[in-house]
Amino acid sequence: MLFIEPIPAFRDNYIWVARNNQYAAAIDPGDASAVLDYLDGEKLELIAIFNTHHHSDHVDGNLELQTRFSCPIYGPENESIPGKTHSLAEGSRVDLPELGLKLDVFDIPGHTSGHIAYHGNDMLFCGDTLFGCGCGRVFEGTMAEMFASLERLSGLPEATLVYCAHEYTLCNIRFALDVEPDNPELAARQAGATRLRNKDMPTLPSTIGLERKTNPFLRCAIPAVAAMAAKHAMAKLDSPLDVFTALRIWRNTF
Ligand SMILES: [Zn+2]
Repeated sequence: MLFIEPIPAFRDNYIWVARNNQYAAAIDPGDASAVLDYLDGEKLELIAIFNTHHHSDHVDGNLELQTRFSCPIYGPENESIPGKTHSLAEGSRVDLPELGLKLDVFDIPGHTSGHIAYHGNDMLFCGDTLFGCGCGRVFEGTMAEMFASLERLSGLPEATLVYCAHEYTLCNIRFALDVEPDNPELAARQAGATRLRNKDMPTLPSTIGLERKTNPFLRCAIPAVAAMAAKHAMAKLDSPLDVFTALRIWRNTF
């Protein structure tokens, strides 16, 4: 039976492991030792590594894990990924029968130019693009690319479980409350996330439905969100993309 476990790494990364009682696949293993401790403790064989993008906190464990398990490493075709054996892009599909896992690949540029997401089994592994109540910084792509990537993810079924690569939810909710102080779903989310973090538990996975109700970056067409973004930017914002851009710039200095 397939299930997903988080391995905390560094300050606030999660390395997600898709596993059953024999095999495992790791998503964005930035730290090999954390993954090896987990696999050895659970007596699991690593059969695949999936990378969403090239940043070191997502790929630095690749080679050590590959040396130990000789496993394939899947990653975006347009990025340099240590040990990559399979290049993926929009429309690619990865089938892991040992885990009963079938993942479709989306191109979601913005955080990095070649960033990809993995979607399947009602789950989304979205790296540093969509976060709990927030989104990643736009480092390599354009604001328009990031906005389109988030809109794409937002269109997935509401029950889709969202596995983000960082625990940023509480800080993101504080920002979201500045944007939408009257959104009752946000207050409820803050209370729930605070309870979890006080017990040192992850606030993830989230769901697409919850993100659509609370994540300001997925709500750029909502009049109250657009109005607050315009007020903060002291500018007239003509489109949801303009609203997104203003929110992302605001969040950079929050
Ligand atoms: Zn990153």
